Amino acid sequence: MEIAKVRKDFMVFVVDDEESIREVVKETFSQAGYQVEMFPTAEDALKRIQESPPHLIFSDIRMPGMSGIQLLENVRKLSKDIEFIIMTSHASLETAVNAMKLGAYDYIYKPFENLADLVSTADRTVERLYMKLENEQLLEELGEKNKLLNAVNQKISKENKEIQAVNQLMHRLSQKLDPDAVIQALLDSIAEVSGGAPAIMLRYLPAYQSLVVAHGSKIPIEQFRKVGINLSQVDPKTIPPMLTQPMKMQPLTDLMKEVFKIQVHFALPFMNEGQPAGVVVAFNGALGDEGRRLLESFVQITQVSFDNAMMAKRIHEMAIKDPLTSLYNRRFFNEKLGEEIARSRRTHYPLSLIYLDIDHFKKYNDTNGHPMGDVIIKSVAQILQKTSRKTDIVARLGGEEFAILCPHTAAAGAAIKAEKVRLTVESTKFPHGEKQPMGKVTVSLGVSEYPTFVSDDQALVRSADDALYKVKQGGRNRVAMAEAPQGFKPEFEPLPVPAYTGPGNPKASA
Ligand code: GH3
Ligand code: MG
Ligand code: MG
Repeated sequence: MEIAKVRKDFMVFVVDDEESIREVVKETFSQAGYQVEMFPTAEDALKRIQESPPHLIFSDIRMPGMSGIQLLENVRKLSKDIEFIIMTSHASLETAVNAMKLGAYDYIYKPFENLADLVSTADRTVERLYMKLENEQLLEELGEKNKLLNAVNQKISKENKEIQAVNQLMHRLSQKLDPDAVIQALLDSIAEVSGGAPAIMLRYLPAYQSLVVAHGSKIPIEQFRKVGINLSQVDPKTIPPMLTQPMKMQPLTDLMKEVFKIQVHFALPFMNEGQPAGVVVAFNGALGDEGRRLLESFVQITQVSFDNAMMAKRIHEMAIKDPLTSLYNRRFFNEKLGEEIARSRRTHYPLSLIYLDIDHFKKYNDTNGHPMGDVIIKSVAQILQKTSRKTDIVARLGGEEFAILCPHTAAAGAAIKAEKVRLTVESTKFPHGEKQPMGKVTVSLGVSEYPTFVSDDQALVRSADDALYKVKQGGRNRVAMAEAPQGFKPEFEPLPVPAYTGPGNPKASA
């Protein structure tokens, strides 16, 4: 640094009771370029210091009234930053050393042997001041930089957390191919980033024009499964656009308040193949804008998985179901038949099979046309579905032939069920039924059971089919029971099962 250039920025006060000294010092400092003010007494100087502090004070040590040491003490009470230099005679060197202990920066002997010493003492002090200032400025800049760095770090760690949350969700989704499991993964992730607050999904059911609570995380969802919003009073065309802005849906706000007792909530639309499929609600209203953006990313990611899962589900159903009736197809039936025989063999519960064939169906087709025949096939399929238990496997084996596999059911129970089906078909008024040979649409049924009549899956099918054939031979519209071959010994004695109580039984309890 070039000291001569910066001297003008520094104010020096000189305090001395001897006028001749004041003049010499003033002249010397002024010429060097310092700003300088002179004071004959310490009292005068102190007054001025209080008004406008200098950078540097040169003070005589011994003066009438307030001494240089006293002035130094007073100055130190005002500020630590003002540099203080004692002017002393050799005789009072000891006092000068004391002054140094009190915080004086330096001392200089009087009378001055060399005036240049005066300036160089000031210069040294100024240089020190400069360095101190520079350090302070550097420290301040460093502090600013640190603050900035901290802010950046905070942002990064937050973004990291978000990335982690998104990764976690993607990991969960990657293991799910079932649409319900996909939704559950989404809700679990939302609950996690909501600090453990619940999250729910309401599914839109177009057939019922309703929004119904269907999934949840961190909430006993079973208790709320029947809760929903009926939109049947609303114009159906306005529902999809409404569902894309769920935050504005008053009925949803009301539901959250009345049923879940929460005021603020985040509601996001959930789409499937571009159509509203439901509404996702996060219960933590304090998530803020960033939270909302994160949830939006969650939903977007999940929608892709959901679309895929729905597609996989459709493909799977196409593979196992008959397109005309939506019953299971022959392939799936055969698969289940094998499994159920194995289960029965293990549990020792009986497994029954009912075979069904529509009577004189060729005649029906010939008279009323194939498409009308399809209508009958579909109607009969519906009757079978309605009269069956959830655990029964109802299949269309082809044409107008059907099978019902009834796990945990003995032949007697299956016969009751078969008879109920026969009666229901007989008493149903099908279009053009009156033109059939018997004046109505009827069905024939054959019933068999493992292990009572047969010892494996192929034999079970054959025996039910044989029983059905017997009915056809005997005039149709009847149920026939299979018979065990001569001398047949069942593999095991089947465990007793409760009497048939499923749909169609007048004594049905449920
Ligand atoms: P039976 O009382 O002896 O069973 O007489 P049937 O006329 O029903 O005899 P069969 O079982 O041999 O005839 C089956 C007929 O069912 C043949 C065909 O015209 C008809 N059919 C088979 N598949 C379909 C189908 O997918 N749709 C329609 N509409 N008719 C079918
Ligand atoms: Mg047939
Ligand atoms: Mg037939």
